[in-house]
Amino acid sequence: MAWESSNRRSRLPADWSTRIVPTVLRVHRGRCHLCGHTGATEVDHVIPGDDHRFSNLRPAHTECHRAKTTTEAIAARARLRALRHRPPEAHPLDRLSSPLTRSPATRGSTHQAATPGPAEDTAESTRDNHPGQ
Ligand SMILES: [Zn+2]
Repeated sequence: MAWESSNRRSRLPADWSTRIVPTVLRVHRGRCHLCGHTGATEVDHVIPGDDHRFSNLRPAHTECHRAKTTTEAIAARARLRALRHRPPEAHPLDRLSSPLTRSPATRGSTHQAATPGPAEDTAESTRDNHPGQ
């Protein structure tokens, strides 16, 4: 049946809902393996995937099943993201601190600027040329 594969992440056996689910529910007396309470109506794969053997199948409530499936999807996505993402090469703080480590060089340039400058006098006279307000 095509409907089964269309909205399931893994293909289920043809007799999944007709034989397997009722059997799993009956064997475990409908006890949800996720919360431990009875009344489960769905069957969950203990280890997610295509292992449809009874050893890998346990009853689960719809809500418990959905929560587990969501958690699995999030975990799978996080794993993929961790594989794809590399840590940034240089942390912004490292770049900010680099001028501080170069302070001796800065002191050297200050020494150069300390040389007597007629340039300062020029600046003064320029300012005198603009009486302004
Ligand atoms: Zn449950």
